[in-house]
Amino acid sequence: MFCESSKELAHFVSEARAFTNQGKVADYIPALGKANPHDLSIAIKYPDGRYVSAGDVKKKFTLQSISKVISLALVLSDHGPDYVFDKVGMEPTGDPFNSIAKLENMVPAKPLNPMINAGALVVTHMIEGKSVDARFQRLLAFIHDLTNDYTIDYCEQTAQSEYETADLNRALSYFLKQHGQIDEPVEHLIQLYTKQCAIEMNCLQLARIAMVFAQDGKDHETGKQIISKDIARICKTFMVTCGMYNASGEFAIKIGIPAKSGVSGGIMGAVPGKFGIGIFGPALDDKGNSIAGLKLLELLSKNYSLSMF
Ligand code: GLN
Repeated sequence: MFCESSKELAHFVSEARAFTNQGKVADYIPALGKANPHDLSIAIKYPDGRYVSAGDVKKKFTLQSISKVISLALVLSDHGPDYVFDKVGMEPTGDPFNSIAKLENMVPAKPLNPMINAGALVVTHMIEGKSVDARFQRLLAFIHDLTNDYTIDYCEQTAQSEYETADLNRALSYFLKQHGQIDEPVEHLIQLYTKQCAIEMNCLQLARIAMVFAQDGKDHETGKQIISKDIARICKTFMVTCGMYNASGEFAIKIGIPAKSGVSGGIMGAVPGKFGIGIFGPALDDKGNSIAGLKLLELLSKNYSLSMF
């Protein structure tokens, strides 16, 4: 049986919190630099509606790279896998998430996977709509369905802060545009992408999204099949192979849960067939993953044999 009491979970949180001292909050997006490095919270959502949680689970944070899984699920639903994977690959890279290195060696310039920034930019480019705002609202509506919470929005200040400093993402986008992988003004794409990354929620809401992925795309509380089983499978596979950037291999060995992290310190974990996990711990390790969040998942995985392997 998995952790059934918040008290049990609080014990693991206090053990993992000690590791926050060894991490650093991201500050290349200035707004993220304001986070408290010692925060650590977790929510677990079961398909029957129950939550078990510990820490300040109501605190909001921005999704950052976690949003890449959600935008991928949306464009796969809209266009189908053949269309999407014609433009973005399925292979992990051993490089940091914002690296341009491999892109230059690929002919055509096709990003290796949708979890690195180059691939995520191509995916975001595929979100349909007549304007940047309409496309963003479409993504937000999808997130409202996934969370069954229609109040979720984005943090304007974080979006603006990233927009003003996103020159590496602009460089990737110009490169992709020159090679015909995107065909819209780069500034439009960066506006949409930075808003996407700034979508804001708390651990409880993130755990609910994770739960839908864990349950093959179905929300058992509302009875809605929000994502097809096949698309949920594809997304979870990417979470295993590429979800923790260039630490995905080690994560698969030590923890073995499909998971996606973001530089805000969020981690979404989907334990297949079981439950969803939402974590927030903004102190990051040198690869950009929540240092205490990883420790917490490792403790849980070991104690409750959660590895899928
Ligand atoms: N918005 C961030 C970026 O593009 C997301 C990166 C991340 O969370 N790893 O740099």
